[in-house]
Amino acid sequence: MTEQRRTALKALQKLDLRIQDARKRIGEFDPLFEEVEEPALILETELTSSRTRLKEMKLEQRRLELSTDEKQERQKRLEERLSSVRNLREEAAVSAELEMVKRALQNDEQEAYTLMDQIRKVEERLAEVGAAFEEATALVEPKKEELLNQRAGVQSELESLGKERETFVGSMAAEELRIYEAIRAGGRRTAVAELTEDGACSNCFGVVPLQLQNEVRHGDALIRCEACGVILAAPEPESAREVEREVEREVEAAPVTEASGPSADGEGDAVADEEDEEHAGAAAVRDDEAEGTLDGE
Ligand SMILES: [Zn+2]
Repeated sequence: MTEQRRTALKALQKLDLRIQDARKRIGEFDPLFEEVEEPALILETELTSSRTRLKEMKLEQRRLELSTDEKQERQKRLEERLSSVRNLREEAAVSAELEMVKRALQNDEQEAYTLMDQIRKVEERLAEVGAAFEEATALVEPKKEELLNQRAGVQSELESLGKERETFVGSMAAEELRIYEAIRAGGRRTAVAELTEDGACSNCFGVVPLQLQNEVRHGDALIRCEACGVILAAPEPESAREVEREVEREVEAAPVTEASGPSADGEGDAVADEEDEEHAGAAAVRDDEAEGTLDGE
């Protein structure tokens, strides 16, 4: 019977599905790690670009300072020249140039103010982002640690499943195992499937020819579904068991209604098994009979 039901193969398949599931769960940790690191990474990117911008602005500030120094030097020279001009024409020319330098200096001054304002803003933002980055980084490690622990848990589960499988496989029929492994090698989840009640393959639901159905149910040979290739197993007598269970449930449920008037049964034999009054009644009768025979002897 065990042979037709392919019990070992089905157990192995269950084990393999659990292994597959554990592997999948391990893979699912990768995006979680990314998720944990993402906020800090975004802040880090902003920090880097803000720092670059600040550096550029400071260079610009330095360039502006040098240019202003140069212009002030020029203004000083022009003012000196203005005091020693020899004629009106020369005075007009120097004055004009001096005016131009003064205007350029005013522009520089305006530009320097704007730049200082911008630098102040970027520095403020940098301080903010820097603090947020540190906060985010501090959160990353414990979260990562937690994920690592969880993943290690699944990994050790996978390891013990692997060991369980190894032991299990060692006790299996080699040929069954070889065919099973070959089917699963193609990356299929199902390698062994039961026949349905109406004689179809429960994997692809293709109808299995009667002759093969009989071999699956009664023969020793390993039969594969002609349509999808899985190994066919005779169904567990699930329906029969279900009927048994229903009967049991009915028997258990019965005393609840009958229990309302137990005194009606007569107070005589109080030994009655309350869970099953019918049987208890029968037992009581047998006891009486037994006593009777004993008495007779
Ligand atoms: Zn099939």
